[in-house]
Amino acid sequence: MISILCPCYNEEAVLDLFFERISAVIAKIPEKFEFICVNDGSKDKTLEILKNHAEKDSRIKVIDFSRNFGKEAALTAALDYCKGDAAIPIDVDLQQPPELISKMIEKWREGYEVVAARRDRATDSWLKKITALAFYKFQNATSRYEIPANVGDFRLIDRKVIDALKKMKESLRFMKGLFAWAGFRSCIIDYKVEKRMAGESKFNFWNLVHFAIDGLTSFSTAPLTLWLYVGGGISICAFVYGFFIFIRTILFGIELPGYASLLCLTLFFGGSQMLGIGILGEYVGRTYIESKQRPVYIIREIYESES
Ligand code: UDP
Ligand code: MG
Repeated sequence: MISILCPCYNEEAVLDLFFERISAVIAKIPEKFEFICVNDGSKDKTLEILKNHAEKDSRIKVIDFSRNFGKEAALTAALDYCKGDAAIPIDVDLQQPPELISKMIEKWREGYEVVAARRDRATDSWLKKITALAFYKFQNATSRYEIPANVGDFRLIDRKVIDALKKMKESLRFMKGLFAWAGFRSCIIDYKVEKRMAGESKFNFWNLVHFAIDGLTSFSTAPLTLWLYVGGGISICAFVYGFFIFIRTILFGIELPGYASLLCLTLFFGGSQMLGIGILGEYVGRTYIESKQRPVYIIREIYESES
């Protein structure tokens, strides 16, 4: 059996379309299927629509969160509750073509434990293209675990990988990083991102910035180490410059001008210290959150049809 994992947050406009299209796809595949749909604290009719579908189709199971916990938490819950021999997380906005599922299963039968789908970026704005490129470059330069560029959560993962993911207890979960960290025999297939069929994207610019910071800090402490080098470099420069001033004063006496250069240096060092403390704070904050060991999500109720 294959589990299809669907995180849903305010998706009333697109859900019917999603089930219609994916049902047509899986009807042609011999494997059995189940759907684990997570209602991530939607404020619209998402839950009602999901429950309707679950009543009509016994393959659909609905997990209702007590509030919005974010897509990473929704995926975590779906992975915890799925029973398939493999799972496929997919967005419900149909940006990721469900038709790819049969190709993923084919690769899985060939023996791959992870079949990841890589998107194109043809429809993205230049800003998004550049920031995404910068993110993957920096991420992979600083971390030992390579996250392949432009590969998101849309992928098939074998039961072995699901079990490995369930053992990761951290509460700040950067899923595509965790997938990469787990390893296993992987392959990548390409697809073209489609337009969102209805509704709107839940990730604005600042969500994505925070998401990127989550990714960078989850898998490496290189940004902290970087400050060791920056601090060390600045200290050496300061020492050399101090020595130079000392000699100059002995040889030529004291001269007063130098206000501008002093101010520049003060501002520069003030700024870089703040930045260093900020990065340090980011890690301390994460340690604090992890130390509380709160659950990643809270479930209000689980719905599935009687049969
Ligand atoms: N999503 C979620 N919780 C959130 C935000 C998003 O479950 O807090 C789901 C959303 O319903 C969709 C998927 O995550 O199925 C991807 O979201 P979206 O399409 O808005 O992201 P984008 O494709 O714009 O990156
Ligand atoms: Mg989308």
